[in-house]
Amino acid sequence: MSASAQTVRAVEAVEPANPLVLLAGNPNCGKTTIFNALTGLRYKVGNYPGVTVEKKEGKLELSESLSCRLVDLPGVYTLDGESVDEQVAASSLAEGCELIIIVADASNIERNLFVASELIDLGLPAILVLNMSDLAEERGIKIRSALLSSKLDVPVVKLSANKKEGLEQLKSEILSAIDNRKPSSKAFSWASGLSGQGSSDQVVEFPAEKQSKDYSKIASLRYAWINKIVKESVVFEAPNLKKTREAIDRFVTHQVSGLVVFFSLMALIFQSIFTWAGAPMDLIDGSIGAAGEFLSSVLPTGQLRSLLIDGVLAGVGSVLIFIPQIAMLFFFIGLLEDSGYLTRAAVVMDRIMRKFGLQGRSFIPMLSSFACAIPGIMSTRSIPSLTDRFVTILVAPLMSCSARLPVYTLLIAAFIPATMLGGVVSVQGLVMLSLYLLGIVFSGLVAWLLKGTFFKGEPALFVMELPPLKLPNLSLVLRDVLDRVWVFIKDAGTIIFACSIVLWFLASYPMQGGEAPPVAESYAGQLGKAIEPAIAPLGYDWKIGIGLLASFAAREVFVSTLATVYNLESEEEAAESLTSLLKTEYLSGEGLGLAAALGLLVFYVFACQCMSTLAVCKRETNSWRWPIFMFLYMTALAWGGAFVTYRVAGLLL
Ligand code: GDP
Repeated sequence: MSASAQTVRAVEAVEPANPLVLLAGNPNCGKTTIFNALTGLRYKVGNYPGVTVEKKEGKLELSESLSCRLVDLPGVYTLDGESVDEQVAASSLAEGCELIIIVADASNIERNLFVASELIDLGLPAILVLNMSDLAEERGIKIRSALLSSKLDVPVVKLSANKKEGLEQLKSEILSAIDNRKPSSKAFSWASGLSGQGSSDQVVEFPAEKQSKDYSKIASLRYAWINKIVKESVVFEAPNLKKTREAIDRFVTHQVSGLVVFFSLMALIFQSIFTWAGAPMDLIDGSIGAAGEFLSSVLPTGQLRSLLIDGVLAGVGSVLIFIPQIAMLFFFIGLLEDSGYLTRAAVVMDRIMRKFGLQGRSFIPMLSSFACAIPGIMSTRSIPSLTDRFVTILVAPLMSCSARLPVYTLLIAAFIPATMLGGVVSVQGLVMLSLYLLGIVFSGLVAWLLKGTFFKGEPALFVMELPPLKLPNLSLVLRDVLDRVWVFIKDAGTIIFACSIVLWFLASYPMQGGEAPPVAESYAGQLGKAIEPAIAPLGYDWKIGIGLLASFAAREVFVSTLATVYNLESEEEAAESLTSLLKTEYLSGEGLGLAAALGLLVFYVFACQCMSTLAVCKRETNSWRWPIFMFLYMTALAWGGAFVTYRVAGLLL
């Protein structure tokens, strides 16, 4: 859904004359949560690196007379790196500011102090926020903040941003820092010749033989200095807990058990979507049917009734029915994301993706693309290597986004029997999982081809922080689900609504003797027939042709289009469910057959039917060449894939 990209754009303009306060620190230490808490804005919060991809600005009101511009910088591990995120952060800092709020994850203090110390070194007025203090406490990590403050020569504030604990103290520290702006004066002693390297127990590095310059001598001096400070000002308790946590981490990131965990979780999610979403979907379907019956009982027969029932209600209703499945998919992904599991999955995937010439850092953009390719493509900015970044952009739309879900569900429900293998495994769920896997496998193959041709080069070193595993925050996850469902409903009320009306006109005109024509002879029917030569080899008739044409506007329009066309054709008065219309046609041996339906599913896995994705690809690659390439290769793959599936399934079934 294109509109989910809105979650990462700046919204509030603030007087440029107001003091500028920057929020900086590692990815995933809670900056966005703090930004939201301080400004009252609501940006999406994600529990993995690469989510904060754009500079966000908001207004921070400190007192009646004083407001600041608060800017949330992308999270970085160092100020010295080459990724777009790191460059955005460094160049914003270079422009100067009145205050930097340095955010560090208190539960992972040693690692976070690396970039924090680089930031303090800039000599600008700064406050160090020890966020996630609740987690640190749970883990028995006690930080003597007064001692740390004197060692680093900056005020230190403990905070639990998601519970808003410590927020008032932070605000008053900001106020006093702005009032007596003075830069940090104490020079660091990290470069005074200490040797040895700080512990890096939470960092996963691949491959070991490729060491980047960030682990150079200077970095190791800095680590040693941090190590010394941490030893003096932090007390670690509960070593058993740490051991258990590490054992779990080893298990879920292990090359064999990690893969088993990952695929089991995914299979479980798809099974549940099909098994549990049935009842709420029936409820929505029933309500739409009842609304249709009500309209047909109060409106006289004629154009208006047909427009409302066969056009608007059938079209919009056919898309709204997928809300339960979309909500469930995002709920499960949200739980995995907020628990910190997804970053572990990235580690597991790194080993596989490396074989295709990509790296684990590409996993997060690809994963975001399951929701929508737009935020996915935007989050490639955290990938330091330009070739890896472009390849990731080009393959990200092969991931099955939520807009494909209505098409998948419709065709699966109409053509695949709702049987359970061995009484537990739903065949429909398995088909759905295979479609997602097909996209994943082909993204690997395409990436491998691209890396071997246009984008030659070794995948860069993959270093990623593992955020602590934790129980997911249910209210945050539910809020995100609501946001996404709302976007979906808005789309149904605007794009789908408009498309349904346009399509109803195309399918009801030109009039024949004052009567609506048979749909096959309408303008829409003529359009569908015009492209029949291109789609006949795939086993589709003109009706599917209309749906395919319309879905180049947006994929889910396919469903609403077919709903209108089939309802106009149907003798029934009330809006009928498209699934049952397709099923009846299929069982009577007409229309779309099983082999062609499977081919159509494959077509939708591969086809690039999203204008917004192409537009964002143009913006991120700064050239028309790559969106055109993306459109052409995906369309060719879609046609080829549908053809092969149709033929092979035709032979086998
Ligand atoms: P950013 O990448 O630095 O912007 O971090 P986010 O604001 O996206 O937060 C990352 C994750 O940490 C999210 O799941 C938040 O809900 C969670 N989080 C943020 N602050 C706290 C906190 O103080 N305590 C705990 N336990 N979790 C937090």
